[in-house]
Amino acid sequence: MLTTSIQTAEVVYAHSGNPEDYDVLRKNGISVKGKIVLVRYSNPYSYRGFKALTAEREGAAALLVYSDPAEDGSARGKVFPDGPWGPESHIQRGSITYDYIVPGDPTTPGWASVPGAKHIAPEEARSLPKIVALPLSWRDAKPLLENMSGPEAPKDWQGALPITYRFTGAVKVHVKVDMDNSMQPYTVVEARIRGSEFPDEWVLLGNHRDAWVFGGVDPSSGTASMMELTRSLGELKQRGVRPRRTIVVCSWDGEEYALTGSTEWGEQFADDLKKKLVAYLNVDESVAGAATTAGPEGLSFSPAAVASLAPMLVEASKDVRAPSGKSLYEAWRATAMRDSKASAPPLDSALVETRIGSGSDHTVFLNHLGRPVINLGFTGDYGVYHSMYDDHYWMVHIGDPAFEYHVALARIWGLVALRLANSDILPFDFGFNASALEKFLRELEQNNNVERRRLSLKRLHARIAEFEKAGILLRDAVARGLQAGSLSPEKVRRLNEQLLQVESNWLDPAGIPGRPWFQHLLYSSRYTYAHLEFPGLTEAVEKQDWKLAREQAALLEKAVEKNTKLLRSSQSLWEKNKQ
Ligand SMILES: [Zn+2]
Repeated sequence: MLTTSIQTAEVVYAHSGNPEDYDVLRKNGISVKGKIVLVRYSNPYSYRGFKALTAEREGAAALLVYSDPAEDGSARGKVFPDGPWGPESHIQRGSITYDYIVPGDPTTPGWASVPGAKHIAPEEARSLPKIVALPLSWRDAKPLLENMSGPEAPKDWQGALPITYRFTGAVKVHVKVDMDNSMQPYTVVEARIRGSEFPDEWVLLGNHRDAWVFGGVDPSSGTASMMELTRSLGELKQRGVRPRRTIVVCSWDGEEYALTGSTEWGEQFADDLKKKLVAYLNVDESVAGAATTAGPEGLSFSPAAVASLAPMLVEASKDVRAPSGKSLYEAWRATAMRDSKASAPPLDSALVETRIGSGSDHTVFLNHLGRPVINLGFTGDYGVYHSMYDDHYWMVHIGDPAFEYHVALARIWGLVALRLANSDILPFDFGFNASALEKFLRELEQNNNVERRRLSLKRLHARIAEFEKAGILLRDAVARGLQAGSLSPEKVRRLNEQLLQVESNWLDPAGIPGRPWFQHLLYSSRYTYAHLEFPGLTEAVEKQDWKLAREQAALLEKAVEKNTKLLRSSQSLWEKNKQ
């Protein structure tokens, strides 16, 4: 069904369209009620769906989002076709669904959108915007901005166009949007190699297939790496080499709308996945950066992983060659040092980003099903995201002309998958997991004024310290057992079962306050897609709702304590029968 929406109103420039930007407007006596708001994409990235929700809450009639050259265009460097940045006509398309509240088909929140499923009315769907919005290039936004006659906007609101950016004045626009609301099928393509010894333990790999236009980087760089990886796994299988655990590979559809294919697939097979999924390894863009402008150290390797899997990722990187000829581990340390402008490379413990936001297909597996995830990719200069210039030409001439980063990514992805699929003992490190939790908690306290008399986090710190100790003791006991050799398969099987249970114990079926679909107690995302640790506790502290904060801290204490007990019992079982 086609619906048409027409709005004609005065334009107000609202900087990045974040709540604090509207506060600035209010202080200047400007309301956006009934107006058409013009905002720009922001740096650092904030999901456009948050700009839409904010404009909707402010009562705007429509939203226009444009790409200012300050963010991803000529102010950053050479533009397409001479360089990686966005030219004057590039339009960053993109969804504005409120999928940070609940992703997937907006009319089936929390259950699978399969033939015959119950659908709620679109008016009841919390993830559907009630405001119309359009993306613009700066070429199309410039006439609106330069013809304004009202008060000058503050210095930090000025962009890179050679004009004075103003709040308002003398510019009216007519926005007409034709929206196709019909229901269309999505196809998730799935392949699997049955494990030879533990067919009911799955290692899942995935990448989305849908693109806004050509998708040279997003997602086809990831898809190219995935095709090469699946070809290699197929060749191994033909030679009779089968993984011990089952490897499942999915090509997701509809990621760009609301993480739709992966979310619905995850909801459809939730019971199996909760029991069987060892880890999900996501690649969205394998090469989102220009090797031709990256300098001698090359593109940055920028993976993110749940803390329990971070040490194994660092280990695996030592056995992969980077395009520079060094090991991926050495290249990773060098680019991390360069990017942070530090004088020495970071410690191994700081290499992996263990804070995980949303915005890609890992979301359902981590946040809804409580399974561990890893995201892999290379990054660098890239200003044509979601535009028609994100194409094969960009990749071949600017991004990765030799496709060597694509190959490196396929190698690390495959190696991590095979280690998870073949290891005797699953390579989770809960001692390291605990140290990351302690770091998150200290950050929470530093970033907020936590009033001790209102909320004491002492007990939570203590519980995390016990968890850390139990994790280290178990790790050492397992290492001793492995060195002594001759392990009974039954003993190993039971230990792995318990290790998988630890990750499940972070799930709270009630979900975080206000967002029941997001059930992970440690990880969620903000409405901007930015990472958010201890989501229930952090949001309560930020609102200064101390009663809720105490409840959330108690939930965390309970979950950490449960996992400490689990690790202790795993250790005593492991040490009991020496065989
Ligand atoms: Zn993507």
